[in-house]
Amino acid sequence: MTLTRRHTLKAILLASAAAAAPGISLANTSASRRAIPWKNWAGTQSCTPAFRSTPKGINELASVIKSSTGSIRAVGSGHSWSPLVPTDGTLLSLRRFKGMLGYDKEKNLVKFGAGTKLNKVGPALEEQGMAMCNLPDIDEQSLAGAFATGTHGTGLELPALHDCIESLTLVTAGGDVVECSRTQNAELFDAARVSLGSLGIIADYTLKTPDLFRVERKYWLEDLDSILDRGEQLARDHRHFEFFYIPFSDTSYCFTTDKTNKPITEVQPEDDSVVETMKNLRDTLSFSTTARRVALKALMKTVDLPPDYVEVPWKTLSTERTTPVYEMEYQLPLEAGPQAMREVVDYIETNHPEFFVPLEYRYVDGDDAWMSEFYGRKSVSISVHRYREGDDPWNVFTKVQEIFRKYEGRPHWGKVHNYTYQDLKSVYPKIDEFKKIRQELDPEGKFLNDHVRGLLGLEA
Ligand SMILES: Cc1cc2nc3c(=O)[nH]c(=O)nc-3n(C[C@H](O)[C@H](O)[C@H](O)COP(=O)(O)OP(=O)(O)OC[C@H]3O[C@@H](n4cnc5c(N)ncnc54)[C@H](O)[C@@H]3O)c2cc1C
Repeated sequence: MTLTRRHTLKAILLASAAAAAPGISLANTSASRRAIPWKNWAGTQSCTPAFRSTPKGINELASVIKSSTGSIRAVGSGHSWSPLVPTDGTLLSLRRFKGMLGYDKEKNLVKFGAGTKLNKVGPALEEQGMAMCNLPDIDEQSLAGAFATGTHGTGLELPALHDCIESLTLVTAGGDVVECSRTQNAELFDAARVSLGSLGIIADYTLKTPDLFRVERKYWLEDLDSILDRGEQLARDHRHFEFFYIPFSDTSYCFTTDKTNKPITEVQPEDDSVVETMKNLRDTLSFSTTARRVALKALMKTVDLPPDYVEVPWKTLSTERTTPVYEMEYQLPLEAGPQAMREVVDYIETNHPEFFVPLEYRYVDGDDAWMSEFYGRKSVSISVHRYREGDDPWNVFTKVQEIFRKYEGRPHWGKVHNYTYQDLKSVYPKIDEFKKIRQELDPEGKFLNDHVRGLLGLEA
C-alpha cells in the first residue's frame, strides 16, 4: 500500500487545519551437540535445544528419530508466533529435504521435500507450467510448517494450503516410514495434513497443482460498513478478495485477484510501510483520536493506490512483511464475520487509542483435515496485530479473543492465542480422534512440547 512519510506529513498538516476549524476539539546437520539457542522470526519465542539435527535423507531422518530419547520438535522457517517449536530436546530441521523431487504433468501432481520454502515452490512450478493452489501473505514458510498449522490465503472457494496435499510421507516415533493419502492409510492422512509436528516428521508431500495461469490484481478503498455488507458477495464473485481495515479511519483497503488472459504487466511491489505511516500518525496525534480520525479520512482521499496489474500468482499473492508485530487470528463461521469484525473494531477504537496496525479480513473454503481451522465450514479469517515494540499484546487480545470465542472462532495454530484443550474441544470436533491416532503412533510423547500438551490436554 503506497502510503509514505510524505503522506504522514500531509495528514498532520490536514489535521492541524482541521483542528483550527470550528467545531473540532483537540482536547484529547547432522546432529550437533553444541547447544545453540533458537529464536522464531518475530523474536517472541526461544529455546536452547540440547541437540540440533539436519538429517540428509530419509534413512538418516528415521535413525535420528529412533535413537533420540528426549523430545523432538521440527522447525520449518520459524514463522509461528505460538510456542509450537521450542524444545529442550532435539530441534530437527528438514532444510535439506528441499526442492522438487518429481512430477507428473498429465496428472498435475508434483512431489516436494517438506523443507522446501513456499518462495521456491512457485518458481519451480512455473518452470513446469504449473502453479500453487493458493498462497498466504508471505512465502517464507516451509511447506511442512505451513501445512502443519493450517496456513491459508484468501478465497471463498479456495481451501487452506494443506488441501492441495495428495499424499505425504511420515516418519513415526519408531522410525517407520509411512505413506498416506485419501486411499492409503486414509485416517492417518486426515490427521497428518494439519498435525502441529506432533504425529511424526513429514519428509515430503505430493501436491495437486493446477496449470499455470495469470491473475489480475485490483485495489480500491471503501467504508468499513459498506465492505462488510457486501464482502461475502465480493468473495463469491472473485477468486480472491480481502481487505485491511485501517484503525480510526472508517476505511478499508480492498483488493481482488482474478484469473485473466491479459498479458503480464509491470508489478508494483507492495510493502508494509503503511504500518509505519500509521504509527507516525498515532504518535504525532496521540493527544486526540478525533484529530487522528479527521487526518486519516483526509489522508485516504489523497492516497495513490497501486495501479491494476497482471502477473503469475506467486508474484502477486505473497509479499514482504517487515513490521515487528504480534498477530492473533481466528477463523469464524462465514455468517459471523461481519458482526464479529464490527465488535472488534468498536472495542479497539473505544478502548485503545494507541492501536494503529491494520486488521486483516479474509475468506477461506472449508476442508476435511481433522485439525484444520476450516474443518467442515467456510470461514472468515480475522487478524488483529499488536506492534511488538512497546505495545502489550494481551491488553487488546484478551477481549478480542472473547469476541471470537462468542462466535465459535478457531485460533490459527501458528499465531497468538491461549486456548487450551477444554476451549479447543468445543470447536474442533475431531480433536479426540486426532489424539487417539497420535497416542498410537507416539505413545511416549516424543513429538510433544509443553504447548502442544496443553492444546491436547495431555499430562507432562
Ligand atoms: C509475517 C507473517 C505472515 C504470515 N502470514 C500468514 C498468512 O497469510 N496466512 C496464514 O495462515 N498464516 C500466516 N502466517 C503464519 C505462518 O504461515 C505459520 O505460522 C507457519 O506455520 C509458519 O511456517 P514455518 O515454516 O515457519 O513453520 P514453523 O513455525 O517453523 O513450524 C510450525 C509447525 O510446523 C511443524 N513442522 C515443521 N516442519 C515439520 C515437518 N517436517 N514435519 C512435521 N512438522 C513440522 C513444527 O513442529 C511446528 O509445529 C504468517 C506468519 C508471519 C510471521
